[in-house]
Amino acid sequence: MNRRQFGTTLASGLLASPLLDTPLGAATRLLTPTAPRVNGERLNRHLAELSRFGSNPHGGVTRLAYSDADKQAREYVLGLMRDAKLTPSIDAAGNIIAARPGREASLKPILFGSHIDSVPEGGNYDGNVGSMSAIEVAQTLGEQGITTRHPLQVVIWQNEEGGLYGSRAVSGQLTPEELQNVSRSGKTIAEGVSFLGGDPQRLAEAKRAKGDIAGYLELHIEQGGTLERDHVDIGIVEGIVGIKQWEVTVTGFANHAGTTPMDQRHDALLTASRFVEAVNRVVTSIPGRQVGTVGRMQAFPGAPNVIPGQVVCTLELRDLDAGKIDTMYARIGDEAKRIAAANGTSFAFHSLHENVPAPSDPRVRSLIADSARELGLTARVMPSGAGHDAQAMAQLGPMGMIFVPSIGGISHSPKEFSRPNDIVNGANVLLATLLRLDAGLVTSG
Ligand SMILES: [Zn+2]
Repeated sequence: MNRRQFGTTLASGLLASPLLDTPLGAATRLLTPTAPRVNGERLNRHLAELSRFGSNPHGGVTRLAYSDADKQAREYVLGLMRDAKLTPSIDAAGNIIAARPGREASLKPILFGSHIDSVPEGGNYDGNVGSMSAIEVAQTLGEQGITTRHPLQVVIWQNEEGGLYGSRAVSGQLTPEELQNVSRSGKTIAEGVSFLGGDPQRLAEAKRAKGDIAGYLELHIEQGGTLERDHVDIGIVEGIVGIKQWEVTVTGFANHAGTTPMDQRHDALLTASRFVEAVNRVVTSIPGRQVGTVGRMQAFPGAPNVIPGQVVCTLELRDLDAGKIDTMYARIGDEAKRIAAANGTSFAFHSLHENVPAPSDPRVRSLIADSARELGLTARVMPSGAGHDAQAMAQLGPMGMIFVPSIGGISHSPKEFSRPNDIVNGANVLLATLLRLDAGLVTSG
């Protein structure tokens, strides 16, 4: 059984479990009366304080990576880390890494954290919830006098929103050419890394190898609406979906829209319209949570009185299973040939971008499930349709992600909101999972 099959089997086992969508109540909680809990009031206060940096008039934040607001927010974070008795430093890639020693110095560290940069006109929760919770978890450990076996590292990744730059530098996936990409702040990635206190010349020093970490945990808002809709407290991320994107060119023949009879046209836009419908039909004809989108389309020459001779559009497919993406692509390709043959047009597909699926570790998923159950919280295994730094960390060691509900499923918007109590639940699950991961990956139950 390969890793993916194992993951799927375990996930379907968890999904089928009657325990997961049922709160177990006080009896379970009494089993561990001394299990530590975070200070929820302090956590939500820190979250509110963080939202001042880059606050926009609509109630959210515009805290672009490498902007002044980003740098000031990072200064605030460094202060919180010192208050939590952590020792923060900035790695060569510009990530903030705050260490807390463990009892067994020979063990590899467990990393946990998230990001605090935002999209333009973003919200106060994406990345911030996981970042503030990670610091809160470390502070709680200190206050409770708990020293873990493994060294711990709280990580605030730089420029998640621009393309996981900080975490991909650490996983070794960032190419030197990408340092010249221009970020939304106007600075190149190299300039941004320097601005944050890193050193793009020494980027290799930030890189870690597979097996260099004992595990990675990240708490994040769902950014979709399913947990809230179904009244589930905690999402256990099965994996971060793979993404494949293509540029699709439909070639027909541009001709006079007044003099060319309807049965003699090679209308590229008509073909492209049928293609959009076919993509939707193929993707929805298979059971599962895969998604497919035509997100952009342009017709040429683009005049009211000319039959479109060419259309350039995009195709994007996402799923946890790379094989399913390939199957859908093949079927869409067959449909495209059939559609093109009907009016003498043709298709060409050019690959734009590929992100391989990043499954979470099935053992970490069961630790998250155990932690939620212990806290009397309902939980559900689900894919992440959005990208996260955790997908880069999955290259280095066992990865687990915890979701809390996003009200209305709204994200990347000032209207983004997660309830304070849900955030505290998530932080407590992060804490409990961290302690279980520290105790050893193999569970007795
Ligand atoms: Zn995020």
